[in-house]
Amino acid sequence: MQGTEESLEQKSFAQLRPLKISSEILAAVACCVVLFVASRTQPISPWLYGYCAIAGVICFLTYRARTTRELWLTGLLLLCTCTACLGSLAIALGNPLLWFLPIGLVLSLPVSAMHFHPLQALSTGAAIWATLFYTVQPAFDRQLDLTLTLILITGSLLVATLVCQTFCLIRKDVFDLQHQLHGMAYKDTLTGLPNRRAFIERLTATVEDGSATSPLFFLMLDIDDFKKINDGYGHDVGDRVLVEVGRLLKDRSQSHNFARLGGEEFAVAAQVHDLAAAQGLALAIVEAVNTSPLYGLTLSISVGVAEREPGESMFSLMRRADLALYDAKSAGKNRFAMAPSEAANA
Ligand code: GH3
Ligand code: MG
Ligand code: MG
Repeated sequence: MQGTEESLEQKSFAQLRPLKISSEILAAVACCVVLFVASRTQPISPWLYGYCAIAGVICFLTYRARTTRELWLTGLLLLCTCTACLGSLAIALGNPLLWFLPIGLVLSLPVSAMHFHPLQALSTGAAIWATLFYTVQPAFDRQLDLTLTLILITGSLLVATLVCQTFCLIRKDVFDLQHQLHGMAYKDTLTGLPNRRAFIERLTATVEDGSATSPLFFLMLDIDDFKKINDGYGHDVGDRVLVEVGRLLKDRSQSHNFARLGGEEFAVAAQVHDLAAAQGLALAIVEAVNTSPLYGLTLSISVGVAEREPGESMFSLMRRADLALYDAKSAGKNRFAMAPSEAANA
């Protein structure tokens, strides 16, 4: 699981797309096979193969679809094409009324689960029955018990809508659970900030990507004398200080990768134009914490800043920022310090 999340629509699209593509190809091939087999026993108009060609084009459109709405539209078109093909074949073979209900039920019911919204399933079912009715209608000749047929059609549409509704609810439940698990796995419960896992995953991706043109700076932050706040005012005040520092950090690092690493330690990985921009960010955070009016306390934070060198590993970068943080502490806290280059450390 990655540190980023998909929407329910994106997730459903990813699940439905392969199902739709494979079932549509199967339907298009089935139409061709049925036409071919039927043509061996009696003459079939070659124009009927035109439906197979249209179905093939629609399969390609489904392959190119990018949203659940596009999947629904191409699916609807394909099923109407297959319905018209099979309805016309039933007329050509004689006694189309025998096939009226089987064709409609087989084409409309199984696909109902493959929709993102019950209304989409309902409209697809209605379009299939309407196409079938329109195709076979000239052959009705009052033999068919129209009332019974209409009851069955209404029933099948209701079942299709219900099946879709049930699958949509299951998908939503699974999605909500995944969302909760994602929150538990990637968020710090106290501050709501991304946690160490989320931070490291995102930083690893940045380091491995290597396509960025801006330099990468690592800021390691640690609240000064935090133990004194806990000891002097209690843990609950300490907790509120952590939440407040988290909020200030988030405000100033919105576009960057930031996190609470644990305890009173935070981190920011920023891709900014140059060293001056990284120092500006570190200074802004130091000043924001120092001027925060929380409970009349005088808060301060120290920051170690390291610029990633070409090919440098993530752990070496973090270690250098950590060493710079201790330099900032030794120099009197409430400030930032720059890490020397890797060569100077060696
Ligand atoms: P320095 O200026 O050198 O960083 O000193 P410090 O007191 O900030 O650092 P130290 O490591 O001595 O103390 C950190 C304290 O943070 C100790 C620990 O009890 C406290 N702490 C860690 N996690 C939490 C938390 O979630 N809530 C609260 N209230 N305190 C925490
Ligand atoms: Mg610490
Ligand atoms: Mg500290």
